Amino acid sequence: MSFFKCINKGKGPTKLFLGGVHGNEGKTTINIFRSLIANDFSNGKNIIYSFDETPYISTLKEEYYFSDIGKEIIAIIKKYKPDFYMELHCYNIKNYNKLISPKRQEIQGVPPLIELKNHVLISSVSPLIRKKYFKKETVCKTLEIPCLNENQSNSYFDNIHDYNRRLATKTYLNIVKLIAKSKSREEFEKEMIAFYPKQVELAKKYAKEIFGENYPPF
Ligand SMILES: [Zn+2]
Repeated sequence: MSFFKCINKGKGPTKLFLGGVHGNEGKTTINIFRSLIANDFSNGKNIIYSFDETPYISTLKEEYYFSDIGKEIIAIIKKYKPDFYMELHCYNIKNYNKLISPKRQEIQGVPPLIELKNHVLISSVSPLIRKKYFKKETVCKTLEIPCLNENQSNSYFDNIHDYNRRLATKTYLNIVKLIAKSKSREEFEKEMIAFYPKQVELAKKYAKEIFGENYPPF
């Protein structure tokens, strides 16, 4: 069942959180949304959507934004015009090395994802939407955690109670909460630099490569 929540705390930034962007990713990320309470959010309008399963099309492909779910997401972005935009994704642990490989730029035409900690990866959003639908100042983030998957042969993340899964979930939730709590881009950047200085440096480098000089890393 799809999930929608709006936590309106008066004057402040508008934040849009999306899960289940494609495939069955919502199954992995829905519990993150469910665990958030009103106190986790700053003032402003906080909107959360988690979508039901849809055919898996990469958000790096134009085709995605012509699909029903892709069109719906664009309509939602246009409606709310968020100051913070966050997509919660998950990935198959088998693709871990491929996603963080410096060769990703050559192979897929996009910079590698950056590991924060415990297999939690972060990046900007699809270049197909970053400049087209958001202002330069909008904080745009994609967050990735290994997917829950009963059929996964790799047992590293095969169970929600698994120790590694707990660590990954904790890291993932911390970043979601950091965004949820930040009152401004400046505050978010300051916190990120304090917790993840190396990752921020890398994000700056990639933002420059893909979006041009002086483009913010988030
Ligand atoms: Zn995804």
